[in-house]
Amino acid sequence: MHLKRLLELAEQVERVYRELDLFRETAEREGIACPYGCRECCKTAALNVEASVVELLPLALHLLRSGEFEFWYGNLRADEGPCVLFEPDPIKKEEGGCLFYEYRPLTCRLFGIGYSEKKTGPVLLTCALFSSKKRGLEEKLKKGTLILPNVQTYRLRVFSIAPELGELYPINTALKKALELVGMYSLYWKKAG
Ligand code: SF4
Repeated sequence: MHLKRLLELAEQVERVYRELDLFRETAEREGIACPYGCRECCKTAALNVEASVVELLPLALHLLRSGEFEFWYGNLRADEGPCVLFEPDPIKKEEGGCLFYEYRPLTCRLFGIGYSEKKTGPVLLTCALFSSKKRGLEEKLKKGTLILPNVQTYRLRVFSIAPELGELYPINTALKKALELVGMYSLYWKKAG
C-alpha cells in the first residue's frame, strides 16, 4: 500500500464521519447530545473502547502532517489505562476530554447516538446520563419517527473501505498500529523520493 492510497482511504472514512456529524442536530433535539465539558464516557480503560486501524487513519495522517507524529508515538500507553487521547482535567481542556475530537474514531462517534438492531427491536447505545430517555427513543426508532445511525451499518461501511485494516483492537493498540502503518509508508514515500 502507498501513502497516497492511505490518504484516499482516510478521505473515504472522513466522508462517513461528516455524514455522522449530521445526526448532531437530531441528538440535540432529542436531548441526548453530549453536554459541554462532559468527559464521562472516556473515563474508562482503553480495553473497553474498541477501534480499528481504518477508523484511526484520519487521525494518524493528521498527526503526521501536523508534525505531532513522534510525540504521540512516543507517548502511547497500555490498554489497561485510559485512552491516550483523553484529557481528564477540565482546566486543561474545558470543552470536553478528547484531545482530537474532530478525528475521534467511529466507535466514539456512534456512542450515545447509535443503535443496534436486535430481535426485540432497536437498542440505543445511550450514555448513562440519558438512560431515562432510552425507552422512548427506542420506541420512536421502532415506529420510524426517529432516524439515528445503525451501528452495524456504519461499522460495515467503514470496514468495507479497507477490510484488511478493519480488525478491532483496544483503542491505544489500534492507534499504535495506525501510526506504525502511516509512519512506515511515509518513510517509504520519502526514500522513494
Ligand atoms: S478517542 Fe477521544 S472520544 Fe474516543 S475514548 Fe479517546 S478521548 Fe474519548
